[in-house]
Amino acid sequence: MKMEILEKNDINFRIIVRDADVPLMNALRRLALAEVPTMAIEEVVMIENSSILQDEIIAHRLGLTPLKTDLDAYNLPEDCECQSEFGCPQCRVTLTLDAEAKEGTRTVYSGEIVSENPEVIPVSDKIPIIKLAKNQKLKLEAYARLGRGKVHAKWQPVSMCVYKYYPKINVPTEKCEECSKCSDVCSKKVLVVKDAKVDVRDLLACNLCMDCVDACPKKPSPLTIEWEKNAFIMTIESTGALPPERILQEATKTLGKQLNEIDELLKAESQ
Ligand SMILES: [Zn+2]
Repeated sequence: MKMEILEKNDINFRIIVRDADVPLMNALRRLALAEVPTMAIEEVVMIENSSILQDEIIAHRLGLTPLKTDLDAYNLPEDCECQSEFGCPQCRVTLTLDAEAKEGTRTVYSGEIVSENPEVIPVSDKIPIIKLAKNQKLKLEAYARLGRGKVHAKWQPVSMCVYKYYPKINVPTEKCEECSKCSDVCSKKVLVVKDAKVDVRDLLACNLCMDCVDACPKKPSPLTIEWEKNAFIMTIESTGALPPERILQEATKTLGKQLNEIDELLKAESQ
């Protein structure tokens, strides 16, 4: 297998993977969505709530607030030695919120949540939690724990995890009629027509929709779109909970663990 990194930053990770196949790419995609753990608020103890929103709605909003996750410092509740319903410092982070609207109506943002661990805080301090009218108060204690996306979407580390085939565009070798219908119809602006010649401007943006081929007045079109059967472009967009490349690493680790488990079971059966 070969890999080439196209883009890498705190949120986005875009790679080309060659000599792979669909089952492998899809397994990694699904593991990233469902199996890579992140921190999310699981329980909320309301101390005071004089706002117009019910406790449950506020708890739901807090649960869906993505938290920066320190995967190496915490245990999943089911793997933790404490085996306690309430958790221990190894499997739980306590966060508090104490907000009041003294001056007049105001919005309470995620930046006001105080965490006992400065590494586990909301990924953005601009997420609106609630709007309070004058003299309304919201005071609560919340407990975040590690969990998996297959149990609840609040634990999904990715807001997007997709792959597509690596496109192959065969432009006409001869000059065409300069109608530029193929480049006009393309929403991704992949093609450009200049001096009656079609050129590829941005190959990787092509999503194989075939609109350009359909738009060509010549039938059959001299322009054809194909894809490489074992090359893929994968895009991972993190919620900010984990670095995107770490999400992919954890997904591959999980795949390895699951395959090992099958191997162990087969060995045990054949003894
Ligand atoms: Zn514990």
